[in-house]
Amino acid sequence: MYRLGYYRYVETGFLPITLLKEFVYCPRLAYLELFTGYSYTTDSMERGKEVTYSYIESIVRNVKSIRVQCYVKSKFLKLCGLVDLVGETRGGLVVYEFKPLTSLSRKSLFSRHKHFLVQAIAYAIASEETFKRPVIEICVVGANKVVVVKPSPSLRHTVKGYAKRLHSMVKSEDEPSPVKTYKCNYCKMRNLCYF
Ligand code: SF4
Repeated sequence: MYRLGYYRYVETGFLPITLLKEFVYCPRLAYLELFTGYSYTTDSMERGKEVTYSYIESIVRNVKSIRVQCYVKSKFLKLCGLVDLVGETRGGLVVYEFKPLTSLSRKSLFSRHKHFLVQAIAYAIASEETFKRPVIEICVVGANKVVVVKPSPSLRHTVKGYAKRLHSMVKSEDEPSPVKTYKCNYCKMRNLCYF
């Protein structure tokens, strides 16, 4: 089996935050992504790359400065990645995560789009460690609206729990069983999954 992703992990001890997002969506998806080395680009990822400054200006408010596509790393989570945008305000940082192809709501972020929320909170924790400033808000920018969430202690605790389970899966190399749900219809790994 082609395991480039695995060797990269062994070398650094850090996993990508995008892998945590996939783990929350479906643990088997994260497993296949890491242990097969098969990588894919979703439409949403492609659209994310096309984000322009005028688009950013239309969304970002009351910030002194912004950092776009910056590398952040968390020793607490043992995760790292490129956050879409970090805005600096007097009170602290605001982390933006772009999901331009998905219609979001606060309710959906706590249910079927929970993987996006966990990803954004992980970026927030990593941004705090990297830039040594607190994150006061997370803005998940969907196709229809911007949903603002506070990085509460309970959300941080939830993310820590997922990160722990992800690292444990990677360390053990235990392959999660496929579970057929509606998510499989949208999953980029469905042709590899063979359930
Ligand atoms: S096809 Fe379904 S079970 Fe398989 S990895 Fe994707 S979401 Fe998980």
